[in-house]
Amino acid sequence: MVDMTLNTLPWHKHPRYTLGHWPTPLEPLRNLSAELGGPTIWVKRDDCSGLAVGGNKTRKLEYLVGDALQQGADSVITFGAVQSNHARQTAAACAKAGLACYQVLSQSVADRPPAYETNGNVLLGNLLGAQQYILAPQDVRSFTQALLTQLRDSGHRPYVIPAGGSNALGALGYATCVEELMTQSVAQEVDLSCVIHASSSAGTQAGLLYGLAQYGHHCKVLGINVYHDNPATLKANVTTLVNDLQQSFGTPEAPIGPVEVNHAYLGDGYGHATADCQSAIRSAASVEGLIFDPVYSGKALSATMDQIAIGNLNEHRDIVLIHTGGSPALYVYDQELLAKAQ
Ligand SMILES: *Cc1c(COP(=O)(O)O)cnc(C)c1O
Repeated sequence: MVDMTLNTLPWHKHPRYTLGHWPTPLEPLRNLSAELGGPTIWVKRDDCSGLAVGGNKTRKLEYLVGDALQQGADSVITFGAVQSNHARQTAAACAKAGLACYQVLSQSVADRPPAYETNGNVLLGNLLGAQQYILAPQDVRSFTQALLTQLRDSGHRPYVIPAGGSNALGALGYATCVEELMTQSVAQEVDLSCVIHASSSAGTQAGLLYGLAQYGHHCKVLGINVYHDNPATLKANVTTLVNDLQQSFGTPEAPIGPVEVNHAYLGDGYGHATADCQSAIRSAASVEGLIFDPVYSGKALSATMDQIAIGNLNEHRDIVLIHTGGSPALYVYDQELLAKAQ
């Protein structure tokens, strides 16, 4: 292990605007793990991050909002799908930090019921005071240019946060998650050798890989692709972001672990719940009292359960599944979840 005191790690030098409740708990899923008969699944409860229903974007936003405030911004523009958890957490962060928030939301998921554009994360974003623009994907770029120009011309100082908060600064948030996992795995006697999570804009996965290398800790990180039709895109994006992290914050002494992605659980694509995902959501709810979502965390859960069932994770005593949040979207998938029950 690399000998390093906490204060020398690169992310400690950056202004962090506190938004969350840390550390989030690390809890075992005893019942579900016993049913599966493989390693014990431990859930890192980033769904309990404490910011407006929680989720993995809270960690990234502490750095991004810290930077926005340091730069003297008065407003934030960010992007996502209509039911973006990131856009909702950004709206909450902005509300707390006194920044105006503009959500540019693209209609990137087909065949959704009307509630998709009014309920769940859209409703929460509205309550949190964001200006919301729901657009066809091809209109996002020109709309954003016009919005930026309009804000700047009227004397405002907008700060742009990319989709998912996934630039190098945002990804640092997941290096801090490694810090928590290192401490918790020792205290709770968890074998930290395999972390699984839903992966889309690459920040979570890149931040985890970078943080683990900074600690010199070897641990498999398996990103479950929930977004990209071509898995090579996700892999390339994580690799690029890991390089950006090193360029911005230094190269760790230990090598960075391999970028591992699994594409087998995407189903019909982003925002379309698979049958396995739906039954995984029911399993966790019925034997653990724990809620996952159909777009992200439910697919990561179903991947974890399936990989255990087929024996691919047998060399690990414990599996850490990061619960990245996403519960508001559950409420706009009621039709398929209820249909499945019949
Ligand atoms: C954004 C998001 C993810 C994916 O995280 P990335 O850093 O974008 O890869 C996973 N789960 C939920 C619930 C999310 O909102």
